[in-house]
Amino acid sequence: MPDSLAIQTRGLTKSYAGVTALRGLDLKVRQGEIFGFLGPNGAGKTTTIRCLLDQIRPDHGTASVLGFDAQQDPVSVQARVGYLPGELHLEDNLSGRRILRYFSALRRRAVDRATANSLAERLRLDLDTPIKNLSKGNKQKIGLIQALMHRPDLLLLDEPTSGLDPLVQQEVQAIVREAKAAGTTVFFCSHVMSEVEAVADRVGIIREGRLVEVADTAALVNRAVRHVTVRFQTDVPADALEGVRGVTVLTRADSRNVSVQVEGEMDALVKALAALPVAFLKTNQPTLEDVFLAYYQSDNSPPG
Ligand code: ATP
Repeated sequence: MPDSLAIQTRGLTKSYAGVTALRGLDLKVRQGEIFGFLGPNGAGKTTTIRCLLDQIRPDHGTASVLGFDAQQDPVSVQARVGYLPGELHLEDNLSGRRILRYFSALRRRAVDRATANSLAERLRLDLDTPIKNLSKGNKQKIGLIQALMHRPDLLLLDEPTSGLDPLVQQEVQAIVREAKAAGTTVFFCSHVMSEVEAVADRVGIIREGRLVEVADTAALVNRAVRHVTVRFQTDVPADALEGVRGVTVLTRADSRNVSVQVEGEMDALVKALAALPVAFLKTNQPTLEDVFLAYYQSDNSPPG
């Protein structure tokens, strides 16, 4: 495995009693990047993470994590990874502090208590409250702290901000960015597009156990379909924008108001409009959500 890869899977395939969760997944995550792993429910995201941690064995294929073979050397992998599972089960009667002490004893890496305390403070969590008295969101914070507190080389986060209020979500995003600045690679699954867009350097989209796209987050958003609304100063012919490259007319309220969809570059539309009496132009900024929905709605082929 090249040194620059924190995760590499080759042909990872996994079935559970008749359900195929992964179908030859080839994934590469670079060291030091924040990689957002997106996909609909049941696409295989959690199964991927569980194979990386050797919690389950793939039927075929291999996985390398931080240069270690996930199946041959899971102890080395687990010592260097911080993992937040999608569903966290914690002992009810212990306090947050006791749970964190327990997790740190399991680790082969020293945990700086000040790091755990500072994370708890930032996430507004009282570590002395028994787990059974904590809300879902506050239990999630314990999960995040245990994943982060030993300053791992790689963070595997399954839905990190699930159940957290918007202010705490922002704090988690800041913590993830700081982890990256300190050299940690971050691989996280999410359904929250705005969050992926805000923090991920690259995005991988998994669908039915296959990776259907990997791209820089910004490039993926730029590739999205845009909607443009135009108001003309005077009446223009109905076919004024017909045949312009990449442009589809969506609505024509009257001969002065038209709304179009543009795929790819805006150049052809801008040049066509330059010859027309434009009074007003509005173009929306596509979001990662637009891109993602296009993948949901299409076959496995990329949109646009
Ligand atoms: P979500 O976004 O809903 O968490 P996911 O992308 O993480 O979904 P997985 O949990 O990896 O998806 O599941 C992939 C497929 O494997 C699904 O069809 C799921 O029902 C199935 N599956 C997962 N775990 C098991 C299991 N232990 N036994 C049987 N089937 C399973």
